[in-house]
Amino acid sequence: MPTATRTNPLSFLTDQLNELKAKGTHFKLRVLEDEQAPECTFDGKRVINLASNNYLGLTTHPKLREAALEATRKYGVGSGAVRTIAGTMKIHMELEEKIARFKNVEACVVFQSGFTANAGTVSAILGKDDFVISDELNHASIIDGCRLSRAKILVFRHKDVAHAEEQLASIKDQPGRKLLITDGVFSMDGDIGALPGLCDAAEKYGAIMMVDDAHSSGVLGRNGRGTIDHFGLHGRVDIQVGTLSKAIGALGGYVCGTRDFIDYLYHRARPFLFSTSHPPSVAATCIAAFDVLENEPQLMEQLWANTRFWKKELGLLGFNIGGKTTPASETPITPIIIGDGRLTMDFSRELFKEGVLGTGIAFPTVPEGKARIRTIMTATHTQDELTRALDVLHRVGKRMGILS
Ligand SMILES: *Cc1c(COP(=O)(O)O)cnc(C)c1O
Repeated sequence: MPTATRTNPLSFLTDQLNELKAKGTHFKLRVLEDEQAPECTFDGKRVINLASNNYLGLTTHPKLREAALEATRKYGVGSGAVRTIAGTMKIHMELEEKIARFKNVEACVVFQSGFTANAGTVSAILGKDDFVISDELNHASIIDGCRLSRAKILVFRHKDVAHAEEQLASIKDQPGRKLLITDGVFSMDGDIGALPGLCDAAEKYGAIMMVDDAHSSGVLGRNGRGTIDHFGLHGRVDIQVGTLSKAIGALGGYVCGTRDFIDYLYHRARPFLFSTSHPPSVAATCIAAFDVLENEPQLMEQLWANTRFWKKELGLLGFNIGGKTTPASETPITPIIIGDGRLTMDFSRELFKEGVLGTGIAFPTVPEGKARIRTIMTATHTQDELTRALDVLHRVGKRMGILS
């Protein structure tokens, strides 16, 4: 029987939350009440959405919607087991084959998310005697995968190829395996990884080369084939990771490489072995999405036209959109750098009141003093929506002293 005197052993968490509140960086989840779209309803308010990774508008594409419904009617809602027990459906294999063909690689494995793809892959292929050479701004899922592997982690300065080489040189006589790893596009600044130089360095030192293309799939390269295609580095990147959760519009992550590498992951990647596979509707949705990438290139063209317009106009208004104190964005991710965490969160709240959803991002997601509103352009934002959003940003920015 519970006694009245028992103290809550989790009360230390309340203390930590109170610290966040005191710093002004505590947040409440914003709740979406209708479709994920450029203009939608969060917490009862109609807003222009500048925060979604829905680059091509595929979350509501009629062909994807129809594919999901048809697969649900045909196969039900769940797969019933992990892939290695009884949860591999024909539609899962079809998706993996489709992605492998699209990426022009031997084989592909699909994970439940991009996060599990990264964490599951790195931890499966490396052990405690091995080394990871990792960009300092790589995604959390890569960092967690490195930690899980117990390999030694050598961090190189952001996109600094010479520093990566230095790190590789410092361990060149060590027997362990070396994995050189970078994001294709960095999610907080929108800059593109230093892939060509890093591929040279990996080859010079016999390291495995791995790229996480979560923000590049559907955005860069021919029909959205990602940064390897963008730079023409086919055959030089051993491990290509991508997500199905951003531009592809659904959920999941994938890893591409040689047939044996993928077969090894089937046997050793823990999220693959111990967590249930996608519902058939998700697999069907993703298959339809890759058809759209191949057949509707106008979506990517519109994404980039909107991106050019958006960056130009934000710059003209006088916002710091990176390039001075932070890396310069080269993609549809455009940060509005504010600096102070509290001011950033206040700015975000005021924008919301005036009908713009721009999520504030502060420490620890970005370094202290580099807080920002991260905006993401999509193909489906209309000129009218963008003009109205710019007007709100201008007005609120002036009022709060962010713009002079
Ligand atoms: C979003 C993201 C992931 C995780 O992908 P999910 O499919 O959302 O789990 C991994 N890496 C990078 C660089 C990302 O931006």
